Amino acid sequence: MSRKTLSFTRSQQLFQEACQIIPGGVNSPVRAFKQVDAHPLFIKKAEGAYVWDVDGNRFVDYVGSWGPAILGHAHPEVVQAVGESLSHGFSFGAPCEQEITLTRKVQEILPSIEMLRLVSSGTEACMSALRVARGYTGREKIVKFTGCYHGHADMLLVKAGSGVATLGIPGSPGVPQGSTKDTITLAFNDSEALKALFVQQGRDIAGLIVEPIVGNGNFIRPKDGYLELMRELCTEYGTVLIFDEVMTGFRVGLKGVQGLKGIKPDMTTLGKVIGGGMPIGAYGGKAEIMNKVAPAGPVYQAGTLSGNPVAVTCGIKTLDLLQNKYAFTDLSRRTRELVLGLKERAARHGVALSVDSEGGMFGFMFCSELPTSFEAAAQANIDQFKRFFRGMLHHGVYLAPSAFEAGFVSFAHGDKEIAATLEAADHVFANLSQY
Ligand SMILES: *Cc1c(COP(=O)(O)O)cnc(C)c1O
Repeated sequence: MSRKTLSFTRSQQLFQEACQIIPGGVNSPVRAFKQVDAHPLFIKKAEGAYVWDVDGNRFVDYVGSWGPAILGHAHPEVVQAVGESLSHGFSFGAPCEQEITLTRKVQEILPSIEMLRLVSSGTEACMSALRVARGYTGREKIVKFTGCYHGHADMLLVKAGSGVATLGIPGSPGVPQGSTKDTITLAFNDSEALKALFVQQGRDIAGLIVEPIVGNGNFIRPKDGYLELMRELCTEYGTVLIFDEVMTGFRVGLKGVQGLKGIKPDMTTLGKVIGGGMPIGAYGGKAEIMNKVAPAGPVYQAGTLSGNPVAVTCGIKTLDLLQNKYAFTDLSRRTRELVLGLKERAARHGVALSVDSEGGMFGFMFCSELPTSFEAAAQANIDQFKRFFRGMLHHGVYLAPSAFEAGFVSFAHGDKEIAATLEAADHVFANLSQY
């Protein structure tokens, strides 16, 4: 090999130590590099489009903390706003004005959200949204789709995407059968199955939750008319339609998939970008439904750190900059350039790669045709993915360590970073068998 590769000695030492005291050495399974047969890097700092590990290596980062870092890491204006907020105390456990500011901002961007409740993670947002859907309808059944991930609540750990798919497990031990007996799972993009289900059981279904572009199964688009069909069926049968835009919100475009498609879900769950890297999740939608949430209504949901002033300030500043300073058309163009460049470099070396992107979110799969379901995505060449991942890492490009995760480009990624990435890819595709 002509090019120098990196050393990860310190990360390896830390990982060994971590494994003694933290399960699997990580605090979230997707970080473990298990699927790619490697050890995770310990990150020391992040700025703009880059992360630095404890060995002093620098990487162009396409994980972006799994989505939140859309402005690039440590954007100076966000750092300043968060610093000021910190100096006024970290948490009050009482209402603060910033909660109204953030909520108004979200409403402005996503008009389907008439009322919003802030929580601390995407998991909480999805779990709570479904509780409200059940409380509102008085029904018990819920519908989800194979390969979609909505956090780790018991009832949702059925044929889930993300780390669950990466580990190749159908569900999880520790989830009692009772918790999932009312969860119905369908294949994504199968319109006939969806119609048949509603005809048979529509009146018993409280809520349907979906990632409207599936980012936890790599990158799977809805077929034309598929989300529209969900909207029609949910309206007809009185089921609460929940778009889980934890990943896609403020990411595929400012207004998420609902904005791109012009579809109004009854409820939306948010996370990731809404906190700009701080722990925030949110769920909201029609006032009639949200008024069921305690203390306005009887459906209980609470959180000691919910609406935390520092996190909320980080979210406000992030959304503010997205709305007023940056253009999604630029981000879309750059992301397209990246994925088409990857495809072209792969083709040059006889590697079949299919790619897709929307806004600052992208997917690439080692197969010749874009998958339209998780079942199809699972057929892609995982061995090639692993080699590509390891090769890119050794050439200073940090990708998601799983074939079932989307990637993210930020506004801090410029021509220089894209060019460096494509140059690395050209080299890695040419020498894939060596990694
Ligand atoms: C990340 C994610 C979640 C879970 O969010 P956490 O903050 O990790 O709990 C839920 N739904 C989707 C679509 C996600 O991408």
